[in-house]
Amino acid sequence: MATQRGYLVINAGSSSLKFSVFHRDGRGRLRLAVTGQISGIGGEPCFEARDDQRRRCGERRWNAAENPDRAALLAFVLDWVEKALPDTRLVAAGHRVVHGGSRFTHPVVMTPAILDELEDLVPLAPLHQPHNVQAIRCLAEAHPSLPQVACFDTAFHSTQSWQAQTYALPQELAEQGVRRYGFHGLSYEYVSRHLADTMPKIPRRLVIAHLGNGASLCAVHNGRSVDTTMGFSTLEGVPMGTRPGNVDAGLLLYLMREKAMGLDDIEDLLYRKSGLLGVSGLSNDMRVLLESEDHRASDAVDLFCWRVAKEVAALATSMGGIDALVFTAGIGENSPPVRSRVCHHLGWLGVRMDPQANDTKQRIISVDGSAIDVLVIPTDEERMIATHTMALLDSVARESATGPSRKKVVASGS
Ligand code: ADP
Repeated sequence: MATQRGYLVINAGSSSLKFSVFHRDGRGRLRLAVTGQISGIGGEPCFEARDDQRRRCGERRWNAAENPDRAALLAFVLDWVEKALPDTRLVAAGHRVVHGGSRFTHPVVMTPAILDELEDLVPLAPLHQPHNVQAIRCLAEAHPSLPQVACFDTAFHSTQSWQAQTYALPQELAEQGVRRYGFHGLSYEYVSRHLADTMPKIPRRLVIAHLGNGASLCAVHNGRSVDTTMGFSTLEGVPMGTRPGNVDAGLLLYLMREKAMGLDDIEDLLYRKSGLLGVSGLSNDMRVLLESEDHRASDAVDLFCWRVAKEVAALATSMGGIDALVFTAGIGENSPPVRSRVCHHLGWLGVRMDPQANDTKQRIISVDGSAIDVLVIPTDEERMIATHTMALLDSVARESATGPSRKKVVASGS
């Protein structure tokens, strides 16, 4: 069998390391070869991999005493990929990087200097960025000749207006980077491109609801992000699995002053104890809450759906209207009751859901006469990263073969 060119995609999170390998065919199309993750990092890590048919093809557990560090786990993944795909030659790696700051508005080929710049952004995303940077560093040490590309969750939002990016704070702070960035950009980019490629009539004004364990919504006008619910950090916007979404900033002052809560307590409260988990007191998992008979579970679900619907209406204002609403990510793709409740709140806008289409996970789940089309589109951030990685490295190769000596490291228009 001929050797296949493989693109490795790495998504290094706080307690998980997700990976995928895509094969590139002769026409430059990408096909998923394997995907998997190591979850439970920091406790008892557990590796699982699936093939292109989603059949399980790899498993391994470590106990706490073995305590492998992240570099060792990444080395395990690389070794596993090499053995599982013996006819694959990895030609590049693409990474999901949560923060590109104000400078990185497109994917970028990694160099040691750029890696240092990404490290400087750690204070903007202290819970995620260090793991992204570390994965790039470890891979550079293990495979110095493998080109690496960083793809940013913030980049898709760089097209937003000043108003959408600005907090009403003294503007010296904005000059120091205190502004709205937005996240989940790779998911929004994938979904909006997918719609543009597959819909006969592309909706001009789109709200995409990325509802996973982390959740946000984005207004996409003619393919460009114009507003989104997450801002400076991944805390702003709608309630999430364990994050509260918007809270009054005065509440934090009160907790510090009157409840003697310190930085770590507040960070714990906002990132790990709030949202669906905090309101229900039961779980951060929507499936558990929907199955529970406890009224606190249904309160949490109701609050979530109402807040999501309110944000859809707010984002429609940013576009002067809305033509389509798209649900995506774990909850958005898999939970008919959540989609139904969100759409129920939007009935006044003329949203009319088709219950049967909703229950059977059709692509379009609104009735023909609905004022707004409602769709379900599975997201694929890994494919978006692989697509960017391939496109950027192809353009660098073209330029170095034909073009100016100036080395191009930032993708244009990708
Ligand atoms: P993230 O990438 O932010 O970790 P995902 O997009 O994978 O999250 O979504 C995970 C969440 O999706 C889970 O916490 C769970 O609440 C929800 N989910 C998955 N399947 C279902 C389902 N069938 N019904 C309701 N919620 C679901």
